[in-house]
Amino acid sequence: MRIERAELFLLRLPLRRPYETSMAVETHETHVIVRVEDSGAVGWGESVANETPWYSGETPSTVWVLLEEVLVPHLRGRTFAHPREVSEALAWVRDARMAKAAIEMAMWDLAAKQAGVPLSALLGGTRERILCGVAIGLHPTLEALLERIEEELRGGYRRVKLKIKPGRDAAIAEAVRSRWPDLPFMLDANSAYTLADAPVFERIDATRPTMIEQPLAHDDMIDHAALQARIRTPICLDESIRHADDARKAISIGATKVINIKPGRVGGHAEAVRIHDTCLAAGVPVWCGGMLEMGVGRAHNVHLASLPGFSLPGDVAASKRYFETEIIGEPFEVEPGGTMKVPAGPGIGVSVLEREIRRLALGTAELR
Ligand code: MG
Repeated sequence: MRIERAELFLLRLPLRRPYETSMAVETHETHVIVRVEDSGAVGWGESVANETPWYSGETPSTVWVLLEEVLVPHLRGRTFAHPREVSEALAWVRDARMAKAAIEMAMWDLAAKQAGVPLSALLGGTRERILCGVAIGLHPTLEALLERIEEELRGGYRRVKLKIKPGRDAAIAEAVRSRWPDLPFMLDANSAYTLADAPVFERIDATRPTMIEQPLAHDDMIDHAALQARIRTPICLDESIRHADDARKAISIGATKVINIKPGRVGGHAEAVRIHDTCLAAGVPVWCGGMLEMGVGRAHNVHLASLPGFSLPGDVAASKRYFETEIIGEPFEVEPGGTMKVPAGPGIGVSVLEREIRRLALGTAELR
C-alpha cells in the first residue's frame, strides 16, 4: 500500500444545537477530511481538531499545514506492508497527534479496503455491536438539562455523559441522581478544576456517578492520583493520555481507573490499539470518546470500539443528533438497547459522499 494521491478537504458544518463545555461553546465543527488513493482503492480519514485550540493545541489550520508540508510528503513514495507502519514512519514528528491521526486512519481504511475486510477485523475487533452513550453539553438551566436527558433516554441511550464546570457541577449530579436513582451517568470536566476543588468532588461522590472524566489539568497525572485517593468514583483520563506509555504510568500511580480512548486524539488507530492493549492487560476498562466527528471519523470510532477492551458505552452516538448534513450514505443510528452495528463492508464500511464533500469544501488541496 502506498499513497498515489492524497487530497485534503476543509469542511465546516453547523451543529444542530450549540455544544457547551467548560472551555468553549461550539456552534460548528470544522474538520479536515483526508482522502488517499492507491491503485483505484480509496481511504478516508478525518481530523478531530477543534476550531479553537481549547482541547489540544491543534486546530484545523495547524492540521492542514502539517499534512500538506510534512506528513503526506514524508509518507509519499513509501510502500507499507501494514498500516501499523504508518504510525512508525511518523513517530519522529513530535506531538501533532490530530494531524497524524487524520492521515494514519485514512491509511487503515485504505488497507482494509485493499484486503477486502472491515476495518474492525484489521484492528482486532470482536464485537458486532458496540455500546453507545451520549454526551450532553452544558445547558442554560438545570430544568433544560433534565428535559434533554429525558429526551436522550427515550431515544434509546443507556448512559449519559454530562459536561460540568465550576459552579455548575454538584447540583447537576444531585438533580440527576434524585430524578433517576439508577441511571448510569458520568461527568466530564475537561480540566476545569484544580486539586483545591477536591471538596466539590467529595460532594459529587455521594451521587454515585459511574466516573468523572478529566477533572484536573490536561497534562496532569499526579494531582489526579491525589484526587482519586480521596473519592470512590473512578477517575477517567482523556486529555492526559497521549499514548500507551501515558496510560501505563497513569494506571501505575493510581491516577485513573478507566481510560477514554479517542483515536483522533492519540495519533490514530495503531496508538489507540496500543493503549487498549495496555489497559486490557492491566484490567482497566476503556471506552471510545467522541469529538463531534462527522460521518468519516464516527465510522472509524465505531470500528475501534469493537475491540474487546471497550466494555463501557462510548460517546459514539447517532450522527443525526449533531449534524443535519451527512457526508456518509449510511448514517449511524442507535438501536433499542443502546447499541450500534459495526458496518460489515470493507474498510470503514460506509459510502463516503464524495460529491457532497467536494461541493461543501471551503478549501481543498491535492498532494500528488
Ligand atoms: Mg472528555
